Amino acid sequence: MICSFAKPKPEHLIIGHLTETPQVLSIARLALQHVSRHRQSTPWSAEAGGQLFGTINAAKVCVIEASGPYAGDERSRYRYRSNPAAAQCAIEDRHKRGLLYLGEWHTHAEDHPSASGLDDDAMRRLISSSQLNSNALLMMIVGRARSAAGLAVWSVSSEAARQWILSASP
Ligand SMILES: [Zn+2]
Repeated sequence: MICSFAKPKPEHLIIGHLTETPQVLSIARLALQHVSRHRQSTPWSAEAGGQLFGTINAAKVCVIEASGPYAGDERSRYRYRSNPAAAQCAIEDRHKRGLLYLGEWHTHAEDHPSASGLDDDAMRRLISSSQLNSNALLMMIVGRARSAAGLAVWSVSSEAARQWILSASP
């Protein structure tokens, strides 16, 4: 008789660190699966994106869910902007379930993504225009490579953008 048991899958797939703070970033399987489905793996696919949700304390930022893209977004090969009403609905819906809005994600048509000047500007505008409790937001860019190699995440504040050093959790 052969019995096979699936190993429990790790809750968090990607772990991140910043150089000068002890805070840890963790990205859950569910969130990673969501954004990975929208990778720009064909020459004609447009950018996709949306919002990131989870929990935050002094020790850890946990990205648990990602939402979007939505009908009514502005999408092209090199540009993404969420439909603001749909994004607001997603934020209110997750808030009811105790998940905080942590920031934004979008895809890039490159294997190992880097932030464009437009991305930095967009994040700064978002921070200055929103009434958030925190003065920093996550910006996640999803490239074409799989897992940590295809992801780039920054914590963006009005003063600086700091990039998280990512690794796949064992
Ligand atoms: Zn971008």
